[in-house]
Amino acid sequence: MGTFEPGDERLRGWVAAHRRVFALTGAGCSTASGIPDYRDDQGEWKRRPPVMIQAFRGEDAVYRRYWARAYAGWTRFSAAAPGSAHRAFAAWEAAGTLHRLVTQNVDGLHQRAGSRAVIDLHGRLDVVVCLGCAARTSRAALQADMTAANPAWQSVSAPAPDGDADIDAAAVDAFAAPRCGRCGGLLKPDVVFFGENVPAERYAAARDALAEADALLVAGSSLMVYSGFRFVRQAHEAGLPIAIVNRGRTRGDDLADLKVEGDVGSLLTDAIAARVPAGDAAR
Ligand SMILES: [Zn+2]
Repeated sequence: MGTFEPGDERLRGWVAAHRRVFALTGAGCSTASGIPDYRDDQGEWKRRPPVMIQAFRGEDAVYRRYWARAYAGWTRFSAAAPGSAHRAFAAWEAAGTLHRLVTQNVDGLHQRAGSRAVIDLHGRLDVVVCLGCAARTSRAALQADMTAANPAWQSVSAPAPDGDADIDAAAVDAFAAPRCGRCGGLLKPDVVFFGENVPAERYAAARDALAEADALLVAGSSLMVYSGFRFVRQAHEAGLPIAIVNRGRTRGDDLADLKVEGDVGSLLTDAIAARVPAGDAAR
């Protein structure tokens, strides 16, 4: 933090030139809030890839490990506050030229910064759904239930992406994994796991928003996940101008008209402040 990064004249011009921007955001918008990302600057996995839905549903050990790690990671994850990237998008929306914000993040930080026109493409980690009876509950309530079910449990943990945490194997083995209080079914955070598809209505809403847009901006995503990358492909096929702001390479670099490397928060704050004169955003 604190590294001075100058604004980018091309990005200022790009933001000022479009009236109905479709923005796609990823983990790079939330790393400054203390939520790690999965990929390095080359778009490669930094760590063990996330759990697949098939293993989560089918293997007790995977289910227990998921929830033990999520339990350990929740305090830090839920305490994360919006950063400069989230605030920049909220200011942009208030200025009236950001048409829709589609995020691959599951942390809800865009909404907490004040964004309203948000589609949570991969769902939200603060909601839990039962795979048996489809009951939905809050993740905070489940955390309290897990504490009650694991009174003596403790672990040394290090934060990992999506509210996950690295903990030792013995702690996993000792953890009592949660079950639905109504039907005994498996519980899953209401997020799209690897191996799952984005719900059809949610995808359609994002696709429709893109059809109404005059440009696409990607911020803080390596675009390695197809559910996000396909919007870049669609925008390219439709002939829309595409800008990408990211630290490191992305899968969409060849399709972009403008690629700006660097800190997403400071670059967007600068470009949107140039678009929105001071004091104008609140009107
Ligand atoms: Zn249930």
